Amino acid sequence: MYLSKLFAKTRKQVSKDEKSINAQFLERAGFISKEMAGVYNYLPLGFMMLEKIIKIIREEMNVIGGQEILMPTLTSIKSYKQTKRDKLDILFRTKLHSGSEYILNQSHEEVITPLVKQFVHSYKDLPVYIYQIQTKFRNEPRARSGLLRGREFLMKDLYSFHVDEKDLDEYYKKVQKVYKEIFDRIGIGKDTHLVYASGGSFSKFSHEFQTLCETGEDEIYLCNSCKIGVNKEIINEQKVCPECGNNKLVVKKAIEVGNIFKLKTKFSDAFELTYKDKDGKDKPVVMGCYGIGPSRIMGTIVEVFHDKAGMILPESVAPYKNHIVILGSRNQEAGIRKIIDKLGGEDNCLIDDREISAGQKFADADLMGMPYRVVISDKTLKKNSVEIKKRSEDKTELVKINKL
Ligand code: ATP
Ligand code: MG
Repeated sequence: MYLSKLFAKTRKQVSKDEKSINAQFLERAGFISKEMAGVYNYLPLGFMMLEKIIKIIREEMNVIGGQEILMPTLTSIKSYKQTKRDKLDILFRTKLHSGSEYILNQSHEEVITPLVKQFVHSYKDLPVYIYQIQTKFRNEPRARSGLLRGREFLMKDLYSFHVDEKDLDEYYKKVQKVYKEIFDRIGIGKDTHLVYASGGSFSKFSHEFQTLCETGEDEIYLCNSCKIGVNKEIINEQKVCPECGNNKLVVKKAIEVGNIFKLKTKFSDAFELTYKDKDGKDKPVVMGCYGIGPSRIMGTIVEVFHDKAGMILPESVAPYKNHIVILGSRNQEAGIRKIIDKLGGEDNCLIDDREISAGQKFADADLMGMPYRVVISDKTLKKNSVEIKKRSEDKTELVKINKL
């Protein structure tokens, strides 16, 4: 992609009410644009980054047998009355012309459970794992953290359906493993820890995946040897490390990037989702649900990986691997073309061919955060070379073009 053709431009300033690091950098770099508090447009580079995050999540969901579907945003309030969630204060409500009330889904248990009831009747139909990557709506009272807390945001939500709790427990462990793999691949694995959290009314614990970060809203108590944490919400119930019993837990700020729950029969009871077992008896289906926030992860990456000058994006999710800065070097088009091809072509290179100062180009390269900066100038071309610098390091290196 040539920067001279890119529709979204970098900006020097963003509005003063944008206080979070992630929104400031992403807006200045032209990755996103604010529609209103907690609601953003994803521009070409930002959308590419989001899609790379989603691709990793989707691949890993498929590894554990997930079948992808897409559920609607609108649902009748009746389903929420059935689960007694119609009074949730974060619900966005709306009405049809007829006056009947609808809500914009904040999660999809009320949709998936009746849906599965249409197709699952026997133990032979179980287990089954269904997920989607879809927009959720929550009327969050404070949406001041950029992509970390959206009123409209993306969620990957997976739901699992089992004959009994033993089968749920086994799958739940599998999901934990695959979540770790997802965060490793996205580049935040080292900072992301499994945390015990409140289980709601149906289970002792749920589990969160929390990424350590000074700007995070959550507080966790981390065991330094197991690297497992306890959410502050339940620390009075669980004062020691749930794995090793260590009582010297360290308080840390963190961002919740994922949350997994054993729902057991809470929703299958509400919608009478049952199956006929081998013995001919009707039994309630046992459920689990597993969330990850791709848009919150995008914000988290920026909160964790940046310096004063801008973002430092992990290679697995950066829109482009290389940021090519062309300085001067008129009439060198064939040579430049050859370099771009060697670096993987336009699919791998963001190419700054704009007629602006070298200083501005370098500043934008730092702001936008692609993993490698590649400078092509008359000086480097004279030596049949380009100058390469990793965004995460200070040192530059001259590399011969035929060695690229
Ligand atoms: P929080 O405690 O941060 O409000 P939650 O526990 O309500 O989140 P879940 O309902 O478990 O979140 O949602 C699953 C995942 O969706 C979360 O782990 C997070 O990654 C993401 N998520 C939740 N709320 C938001 C939001 N307002 N903006 C962006 N992502 C969100
Ligand atoms: Mg949570």
